[in-house]
Amino acid sequence: MSTSHVIIGDGIAGASAAETIREADPNAAVTVITDEGEALYNRILIKEFAKGKLPEAPISIHEPEWYDERDIDLELDTHVTDIEPVAHEIHTHSGETYEYDKLLIATGGTPAQLPVENSDADGIHHFWTFEDARDIREHAEDAEQGIIVGAGLLGIDLAAVCAAQNIDAKYLMRGDRWWRYALSADGAEIIHDALEENGVEPVFDSGVDHFEVDDDGHVSGAVDPNGDRFDGQWAGVAIGLNFNTEFLDGAGIEEDDGIVVDEYMQTSVEDIYAAGDITQFYDTILDARAQNGAWGSAKEQGSVAGKNMVEDSVASPTQRADGKAVDSEAEAFRWVSSYSITHFDFPFLSFGHPARGDDGAERKYSDSEWRRLAFENGQLIGGVLIGDLSQQSTFKKLIREERRVADQKELLLEKDVDLEEVKANTVAPAE
Ligand SMILES: Cc1cc2nc3c(=O)[nH]c(=O)nc-3n(C[C@H](O)[C@H](O)[C@H](O)COP(=O)(O)OP(=O)(O)OC[C@H]3O[C@@H](n4cnc5c(N)ncnc54)[C@H](O)[C@@H]3O)c2cc1C
Repeated sequence: MSTSHVIIGDGIAGASAAETIREADPNAAVTVITDEGEALYNRILIKEFAKGKLPEAPISIHEPEWYDERDIDLELDTHVTDIEPVAHEIHTHSGETYEYDKLLIATGGTPAQLPVENSDADGIHHFWTFEDARDIREHAEDAEQGIIVGAGLLGIDLAAVCAAQNIDAKYLMRGDRWWRYALSADGAEIIHDALEENGVEPVFDSGVDHFEVDDDGHVSGAVDPNGDRFDGQWAGVAIGLNFNTEFLDGAGIEEDDGIVVDEYMQTSVEDIYAAGDITQFYDTILDARAQNGAWGSAKEQGSVAGKNMVEDSVASPTQRADGKAVDSEAEAFRWVSSYSITHFDFPFLSFGHPARGDDGAERKYSDSEWRRLAFENGQLIGGVLIGDLSQQSTFKKLIREERRVADQKELLLEKDVDLEEVKANTVAPAE
């Protein structure tokens, strides 16, 4: 009898798992369920669509035919409402039941709303889906003044939309700089200057106390906690994600701001895996739990989960030291994530885990070139490169090798890092 694999979510994690499963097991039954009305598209590129720079077509990755050709059952517009691990069943909003042998949860997150008055008014946008991008673009084409909230990697996309759509925008930030968890004042200054050059004014030590609306209930402005008022008929809010786990209530799956999985993408419940943004995964490089919100990482997690779902259904498991049964052929997730911003004249890349660590080193090389490296327990674990990305593969290599390099800061801040010298001065635990 063929194994039944059910995947909830057709983002990059779910879709890459489906593809991997089909390649590994031509006979398996594979079902992908998504509550969106369209098959996998490139979530990274929807910002270019919202900016008005790209038409719809290149953003789609898979048409429904792609699933048909691979004999994968794709269920669009279908919201999973609960799962029953003992019965190996899931239920949907329309009352359908799907039985599974192996289940993958790849449901990502939904943008959080600001907990302030009028935060759900017309004209206040959150940015996650292609539908959101269509609304943002349509509305941005008519707006003259905008307000952006959320000084992180998604907020800056909303700022870039304003810049591209000629909206005169104020970017309200809580602290004294953009992405204060990963950038110092020197690094952030480059971003602030670039925002200003693009017609977006950063406002520091601000935020939103409440939004104001007109007689039609449409946003007309925001008042910050200092009492300052900003006009805006268009607002974009990107203050983080709420993970889509409400359908797991009562299923007994361990959660901790996301779904906890081991390095094999297995949850705490047998036959249930998770992948993508939603996971709190075991990072084998850090030897600690970690979270990634990036396309490449979600794709790799989906593919690792898919492989292990198939392996797990054909091989007999061995017992691990912690008592868990794991197939000896199981593949572990091991990945250095990266995330780039392409809105300005200069490149920007964050890699690894730039916002954590117990030590750091940074240098500004020019008005548009800056580097920061983050270390934890002596290891390089991430960083941010602005203006010059040429050293990224060197840094990623050092992360993968788990080298203790925190005492080599001067060498690591050289414009061109001499990798051989760094290696000669350090030891990689794997050596
Ligand atoms: C505007 C924007 C720009 C970005 N830019 C970058 C970038 O430059 N670089 C980068 O690396 N990353 C970027 N990201 C992040 C990247 O897109 C995500 O990390 C990645 O898409 C996560 O994939 P996922 O498959 O884990 O989750 P998602 O893509 O969120 O997919 C989850 C899917 O599950 C569905 N779902 C949820 N709950 C249910 C349910 N109960 N029933 C059925 N279906 C359900 C959701 O509707 C969704 O379709 C960007 C994201 C956005 C929104």
